[in-house]
Amino acid sequence: MKITFLGTGTSHGVPSIDCMIDGHRHCPKGVCRLSLSDAKHARTRSSILVELGGKRVLVDVSPDFRQQALREKIPAIDAVLITHCHADHIYGIPDIRSYTAHQPQPLSFYGSSESMTAVRTCFPYIFDPNAFRGGGIPRIATNTASAPFTLFGKSVTPLHVEHGNLAGCFGYRIDGMAYIPDIKSLPSQTRASLANLDVLILNCLRETREHASHLVLEQSMALARDIGPRKCYFIHMSHDINYATDGAKLDPWMEFSYDGMKVEA
Ligand SMILES: [Zn+2]
Ligand SMILES: [Zn+2]
Ligand SMILES: [Zn+2]
Repeated sequence: MKITFLGTGTSHGVPSIDCMIDGHRHCPKGVCRLSLSDAKHARTRSSILVELGGKRVLVDVSPDFRQQALREKIPAIDAVLITHCHADHIYGIPDIRSYTAHQPQPLSFYGSSESMTAVRTCFPYIFDPNAFRGGGIPRIATNTASAPFTLFGKSVTPLHVEHGNLAGCFGYRIDGMAYIPDIKSLPSQTRASLANLDVLILNCLRETREHASHLVLEQSMALARDIGPRKCYFIHMSHDINYATDGAKLDPWMEFSYDGMKVEA
């Protein structure tokens, strides 16, 4: 399985508009300014592409999907998994039309009932049979998933996680890889689905300041140590994570991801 990190940033992205507006005076570590000259520190909104058995599975469709697809030259998409309905994870969906226009069947989306309802509600023109059927409408089939299911011969396990007060928030396990971009805590029944992981991709919002719906560095490291994968990559990072200074705090088997990073699992 090959994993491409299409985006690794939190909902604001890095650099953030806020820091640009105020001349970077309040950027905690100067990462937004740094990202203008050091592309590794520039983070589009979080998403990965998983290639397995010749098929390409997109996990989330970020508002930056268009530039991610162009950057990685993604030739086709065979299925889409949605973790949850926050804007940074689904607002690139209109650009999926460039792929569905060239495929005979609608593109299958999978997610919680809450996520699938949100997709249909946020983009009613896609699902309204009375909408104008010109060239601008993606062809999508929504599928509700709450238990393990098979996709292209691989078992996909929805991982129910707590992410603030949002209902229906998932991570996903595919074979030995688990992807959990947005999480505050892990229910015990989900913890049981994370044994014997090769690669864990886990939320790490920022260094220290507690957040209501995301893990921060010490919490992310503690959860990763408890799960115990062979390798852990942190994702969904704000401008508070500097690869050099914060990277030195990680265990040897942990790493901060970056846009365009590719790993095998
Ligand atoms: Zn900043
Ligand atoms: Zn979220
Ligand atoms: Zn998010």
